[in-house]
Amino acid sequence: MERVHNFNAGPAVLPEEVLREAQADLFNYKGMGLSVMEMSHRSKEYQAIIDETHAAVKRIYNLGDDYDVLFLQGGASMQFLMVPMNFAHEGKIANIIHTGVWSKKAIGEIKKLGLPLHLAASSEDKNHSYIPKTHTLSENPAYLHITTNNTIYGTEWHHDPIVKAGVPLIADMSSNFMSKPIDVQKYSMIYAGAQKNVGPAGVVVVIIKKDFLATAKQGLPSMMDYNVAASNGSMFNTPPTFTIYMVGLVLKWIEAMGGLDKVALNNQAKAKYIYDAIDSSNGFYKGNVEKEDRSLMNITFRLATEDMEALFISEAKKAGMIGLKGHRLSGGCRASTYNSLPLPAAHALAQFMGEFMKKNG
Ligand SMILES: *Cc1c(COP(=O)(O)O)cnc(C)c1O
Repeated sequence: MERVHNFNAGPAVLPEEVLREAQADLFNYKGMGLSVMEMSHRSKEYQAIIDETHAAVKRIYNLGDDYDVLFLQGGASMQFLMVPMNFAHEGKIANIIHTGVWSKKAIGEIKKLGLPLHLAASSEDKNHSYIPKTHTLSENPAYLHITTNNTIYGTEWHHDPIVKAGVPLIADMSSNFMSKPIDVQKYSMIYAGAQKNVGPAGVVVVIIKKDFLATAKQGLPSMMDYNVAASNGSMFNTPPTFTIYMVGLVLKWIEAMGGLDKVALNNQAKAKYIYDAIDSSNGFYKGNVEKEDRSLMNITFRLATEDMEALFISEAKKAGMIGLKGHRLSGGCRASTYNSLPLPAAHALAQFMGEFMKKNG
């Protein structure tokens, strides 16, 4: 059977080259007579794998010695509590821009921890169909936290927020991590679950400025403490060894492709096919969000009725395209077009949208 065009929101499509390389390595990794899954994480061979993955993150984002890279577990969801536990202390207040389901969860964790919270801006008034253009900080902010791409509603920050000097900016980049070049220097911390753009589920990549890391609360439980992770090279406990290896393969693929400039061009081209199909449909397909804030990673749209949406999704499946059902909270349809989605898949979807409209319009 051929592979499907996979528009899943996460876990999501991986590059074919990466799957084939992993397959070739699976039974007998580089003549060692075992797979990566069966290796000790303390072996020099595994150390080389995690070191190379670490170095690739730094190369791709052009990071200097002022940043560290961590590989943690518990997904981006664990970051929702680790961030405030580590940084909202000494009376400092967590500031959040609320743009959808994920920031709501981040807010929920801060409340459960009983830590001080300030809503710096919110798009809730219009069902998260836009990115707020301004924000107001609290007194004594610990940091400002944003979600750079809203996986469920389909909005994306196309410009970094302008933050008052000295206020650390923290970003949940789970669903647009390494999808385009960014000015990392603006961020004190970036985190991303791997399973959208850079690998299978099981690891979250954290990029953190060392001088910000030095301000973290001390004496936290070990697994919650960024400094414990950093001082142990992300191996305080057994890391998700195979997932980190897979992330390493995806990063090698990104570099072979020509880095983030190339990745971004490819992502723009894919999104354009699909947004053009929406915009040229005379309202048969309706985009859910403000055009200027449209995500290049998660394209959300609706058809006239839920029945028509169900038909669209089932016909698309027959045509070899899966994962197009929107999240239950926003409804409708969603095409996720992460880095690894091949350009022909986006083209095929745009063509299918045109044909479906002709038949049912
Ligand atoms: C998927 C996602 C999460 C949750 O990630 P988990 O790894 O499941 O915890 C958080 N934030 C964003 C933006 C996401 O897309």
